[in-house]
Amino acid sequence: STSVFEKVPAAPADAIFALTAAYKADTHPNKVDLGIGAYRTNEGKPWVLPVVKKADRAMVNDDNLDHEYLPILGLMPFRMAAAKLILGANSNAIADGRVGAVQCISGTGAVFTGAQFLARHYPVKGAECYISKPTWANHRAIFEGVGIPVREYPYWDPVTKGLDLKGLLGTMQTAPAGSIFLLHPCAHNPTGVDPTPEQWKQIADVMVAKGHFTFFDCAYQGFASGNLARDAFSVRHFAERGIELFVAQSFSKNFGLYSERAGNLTIVARTPQIKDQIESQIAKSQRAVISNPPAYGSRIVNLVLNDPQLNREWEENLSTMANRIIDMRKALFDELTKLGTPGKWDHIVNQIGMFSFTGLTTAQVKVMKDKYHIYLTDNGRISMAGINTNNVKYVAQAIDDVVRHQ
Ligand code: PLP
Repeated sequence: STSVFEKVPAAPADAIFALTAAYKADTHPNKVDLGIGAYRTNEGKPWVLPVVKKADRAMVNDDNLDHEYLPILGLMPFRMAAAKLILGANSNAIADGRVGAVQCISGTGAVFTGAQFLARHYPVKGAECYISKPTWANHRAIFEGVGIPVREYPYWDPVTKGLDLKGLLGTMQTAPAGSIFLLHPCAHNPTGVDPTPEQWKQIADVMVAKGHFTFFDCAYQGFASGNLARDAFSVRHFAERGIELFVAQSFSKNFGLYSERAGNLTIVARTPQIKDQIESQIAKSQRAVISNPPAYGSRIVNLVLNDPQLNREWEENLSTMANRIIDMRKALFDELTKLGTPGKWDHIVNQIGMFSFTGLTTAQVKVMKDKYHIYLTDNGRISMAGINTNNVKYVAQAIDDVVRHQ
């Protein structure tokens, strides 16, 4: 008998998850995983943050917790704490009562939730969403998935291996007024290149002048510099200037809660009433997609953010992660310098956050994998968290070899 689904074409596997699977299947003793953006210890192991363990134990012993549904928009104190974390405790927008927040299925769900709202309610006819070139691959997939056409703005300058500010601002100037711009507030994925505070001010000037809509995707607050406020500079600057905006927040990386899907969409609106209108529409859509968000991850984040002592411990845990990554940037740079690897490599120490955009070509990446069992994405991005004191020499030697011979 025939199936009604016979004609369904097979879709390609997701590139980054396929890379992880290939790494896991590799039996070579020296294999190295520089693919997915997940923190690893110096022993190459996942890290459950000590503060998360503490919160976990407190929850197990709390007889008042149950498994009832959360409200459609999520756990109220978590939503408020998330908004405060990104906008700052002294945010005028929060004091004015014009900040909304929606608990979502982690950062991905928050981007989707904001995008779906824009697809239904953004009033500028035919508005397109501009994403950085390059960016996290899911940005295009999510916006196209909700029916918003996607364009790119220049971001990475391959010559300087830094920010193409001129190209970025130029595209912002020429884009039709009222376009949507998706911006990474810190620790840009995949390049590790962020605008400076001065450059953010210039970006905000053009966003205001052109009446573009700002959609921040913040997956790495605290992970870039190790400092939560510093990493939130861009968002806070925009909000202080009275710009209406969305911020998708992920707690996957900065809490190490990858599988628990703890995220939030923070909404800064012109007035409290407009905030209510937006939240009510998102509640209506969220009901039809997930009904209500999962409790576990948001309870952990909530406990930590709303307890001053746990909050301090979290900041220490964050510094531990950020500093180990900064140390590994230096170590890799030093090894390449010792080897005299052709080319300039200071971008490895200048870039910030989880990733480094090495400049390795797709052909070189293939040799890294086939000859050295070192796994990284085809665009030459490496997850710095995969590097440790045991494998940094090996990784540097492999890079040296492919740069000289490919
Ligand atoms: N946005 C960016 C730029 C990311 O790099 C990631 C994760 O890699 C996410 C969003 C979403 O992550 P998650 O849905 O796991 O919180």
